[in-house]
Amino acid sequence: MKSTEEKRVLVVGGGLGALSAAVHLRLKGFDVTLLEAGERVGGRANLIERDGFRFDTGPSLLNYPWVFEELFAAAGKRLEDYVRLLPVEPSLTFRWADGTRFTLSSDLQNFLGECERLEPGSAPSVFAFMRDAGEKYRVAFDKLVGRNVDNPAKWLGALTPRELLGTGLWRSFDGELRRHFKSRHVREALGSYAMYLGGSPFQLPGMFTILPYGEMAYGLWLPEGGVYGLVEGVERLAREAGVEVRTRCRVSKIIARGGSVYGVQLADGTVERAHLVVSNVDAPTTDTELVESDRPFAARPRAAKTKMTPGVVTFYWGVAGEVEGLGHHSIFLPEDYRGAFDDLLERGRVPRALPFYVAVPSATDPNLAPRGCSAVFVLAPTPTLSRMPGADWSEEARKIKERVLETLKLHGVSIEPWRVMCEEVYTPLDWRRRFGLYDGSAFGAAHTLFQVGPFRRKNFSEELEGLYYVGASTTPGTGMPMVVLSGRLVAERITERVR
Ligand SMILES: Cc1cc2nc3c(=O)[nH]c(=O)nc-3n(C[C@H](O)[C@H](O)[C@H](O)COP(=O)(O)OP(=O)(O)OC[C@H]3O[C@@H](n4cnc5c(N)ncnc54)[C@H](O)[C@@H]3O)c2cc1C
Repeated sequence: MKSTEEKRVLVVGGGLGALSAAVHLRLKGFDVTLLEAGERVGGRANLIERDGFRFDTGPSLLNYPWVFEELFAAAGKRLEDYVRLLPVEPSLTFRWADGTRFTLSSDLQNFLGECERLEPGSAPSVFAFMRDAGEKYRVAFDKLVGRNVDNPAKWLGALTPRELLGTGLWRSFDGELRRHFKSRHVREALGSYAMYLGGSPFQLPGMFTILPYGEMAYGLWLPEGGVYGLVEGVERLAREAGVEVRTRCRVSKIIARGGSVYGVQLADGTVERAHLVVSNVDAPTTDTELVESDRPFAARPRAAKTKMTPGVVTFYWGVAGEVEGLGHHSIFLPEDYRGAFDDLLERGRVPRALPFYVAVPSATDPNLAPRGCSAVFVLAPTPTLSRMPGADWSEEARKIKERVLETLKLHGVSIEPWRVMCEEVYTPLDWRRRFGLYDGSAFGAAHTLFQVGPFRRKNFSEELEGLYYVGASTTPGTGMPMVVLSGRLVAERITERVR
């Protein structure tokens, strides 16, 4: 690298993927400026502070902490010097209308006990499942998701024939679970992770048994101060590494001339020049709305066809008193489990039988709420904006809230309206407006077979030199650990190409 301009990288957006990319690029000697439109970094992993409550806007389940440890270690630091992670154990309880409960735990004895209760004699199946999913997890992280590979044959070619067969890429997620479990409750619980991946367990590849496995093997964690406590730690790491972080700095265009990136234009009209731009704005939004090129940009119509994960309506309630009958994380699953996926993904409507997730993080970190109060987070999946054209989202949110409260009541959990001291609600419209999420999709591009690995939106532009992508809709995928890996991968990509 020669001139100062060639060493300059502009990172557009300040989500976790952006922060990770910025740290890695800085460590490789680039001058990095991060431009975030919002008042603070973190992206979807944002913060609402109200009336003494501290709510995480998006992610609430932290898994694979080793990915964050690696990020800090790359900079010669220790994660634990920046943020303390509190274990959430038992991790997550699934509940059905018929009163059945199933609790996941990273303590194998507890998990065995739960499976035995729902499926007597299942211990050998549990061991077989853990062995099988553990092997998938090893193969996924050692050979598939942690490196930049653009060629499908080369990607899968790294696997031995035995490993390839074991991935379950050609079987459905549910099909993999059926190999091990007879109990529909166990299968529904473990398969419900598909919702965040943008498919149903009946369609998505069997490889994704690594999700429930990963949670059990590596535990679920709550950073002290909430998930935003972790974001603050990563932001500090980036600033200490020398990244220039600018907030309230919206980029209105990524400018390309003659097939190369030239810089970005800010909302106030200023142009910042750089030959390297990494966009952390949701990749399909970047391609359809931000890139301004003097040549036809074929990625734009392609991006518009990306299959996205669902939207969500999220509620943040500051509640007076304890919320009896709920642990830290609970997922309420409907009796018509398949119907919920069909409504969401095929029929394009809010599921009649509504699955939803509730977290009470103040149960683990009391500092997230005023003394004696509870911070409650509710997430219900919805179709994306284009699947419900003309929807009145505040009315949808009102109906969802009513159904959530009714269901909670049936389960013996009462959150009486007079106890709700403050409330915030985000619909898919808010998620799009606040964070630029394409079509209001909460988790980014779906993880269907043809949108994973080398088939997913690559982390570089094939048309515009100098344009790169980081975050949930590019490789390797969605979720906090994945976007942190995405940051390392894009930094490696840039270093390979620029030096
Ligand atoms: C409700 C919800 C719950 C979730 N739960 C979990 C969970 O429990 N566990 C988990 O691991 N993951 C979870 N996720 C997924 C996880 O949050 C994401 O995968 C991850 O945080 C995405 O990071 P990112 O790097 O893609 O950046 P994003 O979070 O998408 O951030 C992009 C940033 O770009 C900024 N931006 C947009 N447009 C512009 C512009 N024009 N100029 C400048 N800046 C701009 C935005 O303001 C934003 O800060 C959840 C997501 C949601 C929405």
